[in-house]
Amino acid sequence: MQHRILVLGAGYAGASAAGRLARRLRPEDVSITLVNAEPDFVERVRMHQVAAGQDLKVRPLADMLRGTGAELHLAKVTAVDVDRKTVAVVDADGAAELEYDTLVYALGSGWNDMGVPGAAEHAYEVASRPGALKVRERLARMDAGQTVVVVGGGLTGVEAVTEIAEARPDLDVAIAVRGGFGDWLTPKAQERLRTVAAKLGITVHEHAAVTAVRADAVETGTGAIPAALAIWTTGFAVHPIAAATALEVTERGQIVVDRDMRSVSHPDVYAVGDAGYAMSDVDKPLRMSCASGTPMAWIAADAIAAELTGGKRGKTALAYTQQCISLGRKEGLIQFVTADDQVKTTWLRGRTAALYKEFICKGAAWAAANPTIGLPTRRKPILKARNAKGTATKALA
Ligand SMILES: Cc1cc2nc3c(=O)[nH]c(=O)nc-3n(C[C@H](O)[C@H](O)[C@H](O)COP(=O)(O)OP(=O)(O)OC[C@H]3O[C@@H](n4cnc5c(N)ncnc54)[C@H](O)[C@@H]3O)c2cc1C
Repeated sequence: MQHRILVLGAGYAGASAAGRLARRLRPEDVSITLVNAEPDFVERVRMHQVAAGQDLKVRPLADMLRGTGAELHLAKVTAVDVDRKTVAVVDADGAAELEYDTLVYALGSGWNDMGVPGAAEHAYEVASRPGALKVRERLARMDAGQTVVVVGGGLTGVEAVTEIAEARPDLDVAIAVRGGFGDWLTPKAQERLRTVAAKLGITVHEHAAVTAVRADAVETGTGAIPAALAIWTTGFAVHPIAAATALEVTERGQIVVDRDMRSVSHPDVYAVGDAGYAMSDVDKPLRMSCASGTPMAWIAADAIAAELTGGKRGKTALAYTQQCISLGRKEGLIQFVTADDQVKTTWLRGRTAALYKEFICKGAAWAAANPTIGLPTRRKPILKARNAKGTATKALA
């Protein structure tokens, strides 16, 4: 009679949700299974560092979950059937089907080539560990003077180009951005970004939307930029699994959820992290980020626990405070923002900002790797079981 909770994806959002659920609910009442394709927790926010040749601490998911009450199922999710409440997976034993009573969908996202001709064939990416490792291998084979172009001037592009330029000063490193370089930052922060880029020898191509990628160059409206290696960072795309279900999804395939991170079409399904489309406390869509994914996970876990136990929901805020940008290992830029992610005049720079960013990354990984530490144990018995239509039917305990 255990209530079966399946959490799909053990990134920042999924790992946090599984751990928090384990801390809130009694193991005799619920089974919590975290399904992930890879055996290790991947610190996605550091993929530009991996690409630039740095080694990260290995964090086996099995170690992370040991003693929490949540179980790990190493498998690749291939489909979800929200009507039959099943998840199709392929694991070491082959194809299998898992059943759930409550589903937490946290499969994250990957790179988004935006359909630009040649990008899928020729460009590299740093949105995933395999992608970052390919960039690393490619860089290792490049000779001094060869050209690298990072396409995209958002947070990932800025972090990637600075990290690579710092690690490989012998290469000719450039960034191509659609608008102005760092144009969402305060003017002083933009100026600082330009100074750091110049110090690192980065060529900045502004107002240079890339229209095609070739094996040796990227095309822009104003001409071609030589690129022995083009790294595409123009945003993230969610996995197509959710869009293939009966769930209500956005045009981009994110699952539309309410303030509890609960699917607006299927109440047994919650979506957190990049995979979920939620509004912030100031009614703006959350951006795909670790900064959004972790509070989304806490909210979903608290809402599920409250639903099952009859307890109160949590009070986690959905509001931004800062954007933390690494500019290589020695420099950083912390731009403080309003709750709806608009820049304030306050910002930090230099070594202090680099240390601040490092602290945030370590904190995010630590929180995901130790999902139950620091939470008060408030395990409550489940009050009701649910029948297939989702109607409360009988007391469990
Ligand atoms: C280089 C880089 C720098 C970034 N910097 C920042 C930053 O400074 N601040 C910030 O807030 N955000 C940053 N981000 C964004 C942030 O990493 C993502 O928004 C965040 O990782 C999303 O978390 P998630 O848990 O939703 O998904 P993910 O972290 O992507 O985790 C998804 C999990 O699901 C698993 N999975 C996927 N598909 C399947 C499948 N079919 N079957 C089984 N398992 C599957 C994956 O293996 C993974 O473990 C950065 C991203 C990149 C790439």
